[in-house]
Amino acid sequence: MKRKSKAAKGPDAEILFARLQALAGDLWWSWQAGGADFWSALDPEGWLATAHNPVALLADGAPKTFAARFAADPALGEALADLEARRERYLGDRDTWHDRAGRPIRGLLAYFSAEYGIHESLPNYSGGLGILSGDHVKSASDIGLPFVAVGLLYRNGYVRQHVDADGRQVPRYVDYDFDRLVCRPVTGPGGRPTRVEVPILDEICQVQVWRVRVGRVDLYLLDTDLEENPEHLRGITAQLYGGGHETRIKQELVLGVGGVRAIRAMGLQPTVWHLNEGHSSFLNLERIRELMAAGEADSVPAAIERIRDNSVFTTHTPVEAGHDRFDPAMAWSHLKWFADGVGLDGPGLLALGRWSGDGAHHGPFNMTLLAMHTCTHLNGVAALHGVVSRQMFGRFWPGTPEDEVPITHVTNGVHAPSWQGDALTVVLDEHLSAGWRDRPATHPVWAAVDGVPDDAIWAAHHVGKQTLFDLARRREAARRERFGLEPWADRLEADVLTIGFARRFAPYKRADLIFSDMERLLAILDKAAGPVQILYAGKAHPADVKGQQLVQNVYKASHHPALMGRVLLIEDYDIELGRALVQGVDVWLNNPRRPKEASGTSGMKVSMNGGLNLSILDGWWPEGYSGHNGWTIGEPRSYPSVEAQDAADADSLYLRLERDVIPLYYERDAAGLPRRWLAMMKNAIRTVTPNFHSDRQVQDYVHHLYAPG
Ligand SMILES: *Cc1c(COP(=O)(O)O)cnc(C)c1O
Repeated sequence: MKRKSKAAKGPDAEILFARLQALAGDLWWSWQAGGADFWSALDPEGWLATAHNPVALLADGAPKTFAARFAADPALGEALADLEARRERYLGDRDTWHDRAGRPIRGLLAYFSAEYGIHESLPNYSGGLGILSGDHVKSASDIGLPFVAVGLLYRNGYVRQHVDADGRQVPRYVDYDFDRLVCRPVTGPGGRPTRVEVPILDEICQVQVWRVRVGRVDLYLLDTDLEENPEHLRGITAQLYGGGHETRIKQELVLGVGGVRAIRAMGLQPTVWHLNEGHSSFLNLERIRELMAAGEADSVPAAIERIRDNSVFTTHTPVEAGHDRFDPAMAWSHLKWFADGVGLDGPGLLALGRWSGDGAHHGPFNMTLLAMHTCTHLNGVAALHGVVSRQMFGRFWPGTPEDEVPITHVTNGVHAPSWQGDALTVVLDEHLSAGWRDRPATHPVWAAVDGVPDDAIWAAHHVGKQTLFDLARRREAARRERFGLEPWADRLEADVLTIGFARRFAPYKRADLIFSDMERLLAILDKAAGPVQILYAGKAHPADVKGQQLVQNVYKASHHPALMGRVLLIEDYDIELGRALVQGVDVWLNNPRRPKEASGTSGMKVSMNGGLNLSILDGWWPEGYSGHNGWTIGEPRSYPSVEAQDAADADSLYLRLERDVIPLYYERDAAGLPRRWLAMMKNAIRTVTPNFHSDRQVQDYVHHLYAPG
């Protein structure tokens, strides 16, 4: 008898474990209501110990341990079955947006990006560009596009941040074990790993292809860290945006050339190719080489004519340093194999990455210009960024009036299911019509937000606020312990106006603008109706000395006696912290030097959670600001100098805080609710969620760029 029951238990545990692995093996769970809750209920300690990584959580346990959890808690079985049923319906849905739109993408879309921020458990992102790619992939899956994504798999991810006792940023690289991440090696016939080859100078680099499942979409990540490669080639994919130009050009060869070869090796036939930023522009060189090798084009110009109409290029920044440029000699030595193959000489090759009409005699090889030479469909990421891009690149089309320069825009969006807080979505479930989750980009459902009771919104917001404070305290406690500091004299309070500022600490974003006149700030706070808390987060690129100085400036300001305990720089900005911030702050501060912020997306996430933007009219905000869903800082104009611009914007910021933001937050009725503030919160949710949802963004790409006409 005993043996029999044991035998019956064994397979059950194994089957259950296989079901858990199947759920963990698709990042789909990460944007489902109840997805994260399921894993944390299954193994609360493992969930925290693995930093929210179900693949690692399962690897650390035994099937029978998990089976015992299910035996002890029947709710777990129900939750698992519910998630499985929903996933099956999702994967089998034949009535997606793409179906209803008549399947405008006839074949397959291939999307290339150097980074993907899908979930904190896959460390494949540095910041905005990666989060945008991740949200794009999720929406492509949700709306049913035939879509594959290609990127690189970084052994050390992007730099992590410690902040030492003096506020200096200390870079930290983690060695990730790919077996504990959600990626799995792609295998071909006979179960052999799928490998492709990329020429790197005089050598051939072997590249392994990994797959990450993101709902309906496969994300393929390329990895050079293989025993077959010599050490210097193994390190190509070590760090995202690490190393110098030499490493960068090698990474971009692996991404572009290796990416096309990987797609071919898997037998895929894309009909549209999207170059998300110039890092992947080499993919078009490989497509040119393919056409000529196959005899389908007899010259490079003829091959470009063949590829350009199904090539889409998105530029993401008006900041010059954000465009990859390579020394001509470096570009030539890395691309000589290509030039030889297609019969180009040095000047002919370099002309592909230079301004038209410049001749081939000077200037670096520019990846943005390579994309513009080889793609018909070009876009910026917000309306204002479209205007700025047409100015920046107008001379690429000599004689064309600026407003006719063929660069359009698709305003960015964010994947609301990934960013809206659970407490708020429960409230919305109660009050919005049933379709709000499935047809999020349709407007009528959002009108109902105005009818949601104030106290329900306020209570949901406070859940997010508490979660944010908990995370801030945990991270700060860990930091202080590491550096042997006294515990933090924490004065965070839920009923205090809480401002958030989190972004890359690049100088143009002016992280310390609010501290530029400390006396004035303290005077405002002194007279205010109530206190103000400010939570900061953000990394500076390890090579950005000025950015690191900003980290230190903010850190030092947070130690001013009048601000201590209420102003905090939280370490290591990542998706987990980003989610907590956008769901927990009352006000999101954004004060870049206009017009340098191409779009910005964190403010959209904040609005969707009822937070109010206090922002320069840059990036997406000129389109998002309705007059009643947040505030502006400064004037939409240009200035004779950076100093004049900074002074004018700081003045405007102080006035806004003093006259508008702080008084309105502390204006309470008999029930203790800030009614006029709450009306603005609802405006933010109602106006921003449908318009800045990444479903809308990807749909715009389909209509205007992927399948125009
Ligand atoms: C949304 C997000 C970003 C990008 O936001 P910006 O407004 O462009 O700075 C960067 N990092 C994280 C973790 C995010 O969640």
